Amino acid sequence: MKKWSESRAPTGRYAYVDGRYLRHGQASVHIEDRGLQLGEAIYEVCNLRHGRLIDEEPHLDRMERSLREIGVPMPLARAALKSVMRELIARNRIKDGLLYIQVSRGAAKRDHVPPATMGRPTLIITLRPQDLGGLEKRMAQGVAVSTQPDIRWGRRDIKTTNLLPNVMAKLAAKNKGAFEAWLVEEGKIAEGSSTNAWIVTAAGEIVPRDLSSSILAGVTRKLILEAAAEAQMKVSERAFTLEEAKNAREAFLSSATGACVPVVTIDDVAVGDGRPGPLTRRLGTLYARKVGLEG
Ligand code: PLP
Repeated sequence: MKKWSESRAPTGRYAYVDGRYLRHGQASVHIEDRGLQLGEAIYEVCNLRHGRLIDEEPHLDRMERSLREIGVPMPLARAALKSVMRELIARNRIKDGLLYIQVSRGAAKRDHVPPATMGRPTLIITLRPQDLGGLEKRMAQGVAVSTQPDIRWGRRDIKTTNLLPNVMAKLAAKNKGAFEAWLVEEGKIAEGSSTNAWIVTAAGEIVPRDLSSSILAGVTRKLILEAAAEAQMKVSERAFTLEEAKNAREAFLSSATGACVPVVTIDDVAVGDGRPGPLTRRLGTLYARKVGLEG
């Protein structure tokens, strides 16, 4: 059997690993990398559209914060990191894609406590083309979500690569025919497995879960909130229950891979009339304008 790297990696695709631009299929890290062995790593995903990185600065701000929280230095100064990102985009000749950045503490003899003198953190950057057709379909038709218990750790505000509970939840949701899992803790929706969760109440109030260590502070969430405030829309950042979500007028997901993706069913119960809602669409348009994706 062929290895994934040989059979699936598109030819001509490049990755960046620790100072080198390498063929995607040949790029690798040390087997004792602490990201690989201990999950001591953080990441970011940034949307590339028409050759431009969307919300780049807030993604890099959050990356710096995640690194600070786990006590790992920035692998490169921000300006240098940005030039590497641009060089990788140019080498890959991709205009619409997803740029992935991962930083781990680095490689060392396996031990929970890192050595006093660590080498440089491991920096990986990859880029892949985005399936815009799939996104368009989700925007037009909406998606189903399935609720799953939130079994994650207590620091969900750190964008860690420790995604096993998220992966398990998303797989369980997929097996139920849903696109995303909504993670429920004490009857309240925290967020999706890789998206933030929003509802629109019967009174027309837009409700995202409030920020705390229970959820990731989504960059797209933040920009949507700014767009809503500029348009003087009614917003309340607070926890909401599964019951409230099922009785909501509209619901949607946000992430770098899709800003306002309508949710049309939750556990097979139709949200509103079971079609993408007008406020979701309006917010999607306002966000797109704000970040320069639409005129
Ligand atoms: N919540 C979780 C758990 C995520 O993994 C993500 C994105 O990966 C988000 C929310 C959305 O964040 P952003 O809008 O910054 O992509």
